[in-house]
Amino acid sequence: MKYDYLIVGAGFAGSVMAERLASQMDKKVLVVEKRNHIAGNAYDEYDEHGILVHRYGPHIFHTNSKKVFEYLSQFTEWIPYEHKVLAKLNGSLYPIPINRLTVNKLYNKNFTTEKEVSDYFESVREKRYPILNSEDIIVNQVGVDLFEKFFRYYTKKQWNLEPRELNPSVCGRIPVRTNDDCRYFTDKYQFMPKDGYTKMFEKMLSHKNIEVILNTDYKDILDDIKFDKMIYTGPIDYFFDYQFGKLPYRSIRFMWETFDKEYFQEIAQINYTGKDDDYTRVVEHKYLSGQKANMTTISKEYPTFNGEPFYPIPNENNQEIFMRYKKESEKIKDVIFTGRLAEYKYYNMDQVVANTLNQFEKL
Ligand code: FAD
Ligand code: UDP
Repeated sequence: MKYDYLIVGAGFAGSVMAERLASQMDKKVLVVEKRNHIAGNAYDEYDEHGILVHRYGPHIFHTNSKKVFEYLSQFTEWIPYEHKVLAKLNGSLYPIPINRLTVNKLYNKNFTTEKEVSDYFESVREKRYPILNSEDIIVNQVGVDLFEKFFRYYTKKQWNLEPRELNPSVCGRIPVRTNDDCRYFTDKYQFMPKDGYTKMFEKMLSHKNIEVILNTDYKDILDDIKFDKMIYTGPIDYFFDYQFGKLPYRSIRFMWETFDKEYFQEIAQINYTGKDDDYTRVVEHKYLSGQKANMTTISKEYPTFNGEPFYPIPNENNQEIFMRYKKESEKIKDVIFTGRLAEYKYYNMDQVVANTLNQFEKL
């Protein structure tokens, strides 16, 4: 068989590109996916108890991009959803991101204005300049105590690195607030796909010009197919047979449990930020979909280096290795490297969609 494009990976990067090429340019596309399903890490499915679960951890859609939101709206209806997270520390729950309520509860304060809270942060922060790592960026805003209570141990568990060994962009994902906004994100568009992510991907990929093969590593079929160009969304080091060494990716082992009661915890996500628990967070999936049921399913996340590559690990050392691969990739004219694994970048879903749409427009 002859295709215009071979696309490696059926996650956001691969599927959006496939959809655009097929529907806008009438290209014949083959999508090869090594796992047994489409949707990449955004994959969701009903578990054996009938609860819709995000198999690879909670995926909350949020964006400020009208373009991304409108593009995806062709393939799904949405339900409004604003994510909220509590941190569990020594048996008590505190709002995360840190805000006025967090400070009041933790330190027995009674701050009522934003000014009081920012004065408090000013009195406890430790000035760090320049901001070189994930410790600097937090301590510079809120000081050592809040850093230790909410960031240090969670980060160590998640990455097996101290915050000072990670780029500022990692802990810098989490804002610090002086008001009482308890939402995890403040983006303009915050929604969940009404029937789940997998259904949205099914719609995206159902085009007569798109063929999808599952359970297949692209390297195993290269000799059997013909194509003009490739879109590669897998790990970049694997493409080059690890010639400059392995790039580390962090993974997660999920422990699933179902309870014969309506709800397990009071909120969708609880982060365990102390040093005692060896898991990072507990997610109750029904909150994400708004599903009503008598039972409920949770997942506990245990970070690990084994398993699917979920997270590139942003620090200088890894960036150096990545740049060697990137240089090599620039020499190959007929392959586009895109997505979180191929660009080794800690992207959110909307960023991947935005980048893919831009890449497509440049073709
Ligand atoms: P992927 O989804 O990883 O897709 C790449 C695909 O390529 C995979 O399906 C893989 O199996 C396949 N592949 C790899 N190698 C090969 C090969 N050799 N042959 C064939 N196929 C191959 N983003 C948000 O916006 N909000 C969130 O709340 C959020 N939560 C997250 C929680 C977790 C635990 C994780 C891990 C990620 C989260 N993300 C979230 C990020 C989101 O998952 C990514 O931004 C997005 O899925 C990246 O899409 P992608 O297509 O680049 O990569
Ligand atoms: N983080 C933390 N404590 C928290 C939440 C986040 O230390 O309660 C740090 C941690 O290093 C984490 C990073 O901030 O990996 C980014 O958090 P986010 O919730 O965005 O992680 P993701 O959902 O991508 O796993």
